[in-house]
Amino acid sequence: MTLITLVQGDITGQSVDALVNAANSSLLGGGGVDGAIHRRGGPEILAECRRLRASRYGRGLPTGQAVATTAGELDARWVIHTVGPVWRTGGGDAALLASCYRESLRVADELGARTVAFPAISTGVYRWPMEDAARVAVQTVRSTPTAVEEVRFVLFDDRAYDAFVRQLG
Ligand code: ADP
Repeated sequence: MTLITLVQGDITGQSVDALVNAANSSLLGGGGVDGAIHRRGGPEILAECRRLRASRYGRGLPTGQAVATTAGELDARWVIHTVGPVWRTGGGDAALLASCYRESLRVADELGARTVAFPAISTGVYRWPMEDAARVAVQTVRSTPTAVEEVRFVLFDDRAYDAFVRQLG
C-alpha cells in the first residue's frame, strides 16, 4: 500500500529517495521545476543528462517516458526526469500524462526508491488545467502497483495544493 502525502512548497528542498523533474525532451534544462532542480542540484545532474542525450536519447526523451540521473547536491539519491504532454487548445493526451507518473514509479522501483516526490507535471509552462492534472496524478498513482512506500506530491502554490486535496478527498 502506497501512502500518498501532500506538501505545499519547493520540491528541491525535499528529503526523499527520488524526486521527479517535469523536464522537457531535450533533457538540457528549462524553466519551472526543471530550472530549480538544476540550480539547486548543481552541474552533475546536467552532465549526466548530456551523457543520456549522447547515448540513449539522441532525439530527446519521448513524452510520457522517464529516466533517472544522480540528484547532485539535492537531499535525494536520484532525480527521475519525465516529459509531460503539452495542453493545447481544447485538450491534451491524458494517457501520456498518466504515463509520466506510471513510468516514473517504474523507474523508482528499478532503483529501489521507497520515497518519491512529484511536482504537478505539465501544469506550468505546459498549461494543463490544475484540476484535471491533479485527477490524473492521483488516479494514476492509486492504480499503479509499486513498492514505493510514500508518494509525496509537492505543490508550489495554494491553487495546486487545494486541487490535490480535493482529489484525495
Ligand atoms: P511543465 O513544463 O511540465 O508544465 P513546470 O515546471 O513549468 O512544468 O510546472 C509544473 C508545476 O510545477 C507548476 O504547477 C509549477 O507551479 C510548479 N513548480 C515550479 N517550480 C516548482 C518547485 N521548485 N517545486 C515544486 N513545484 C514547482
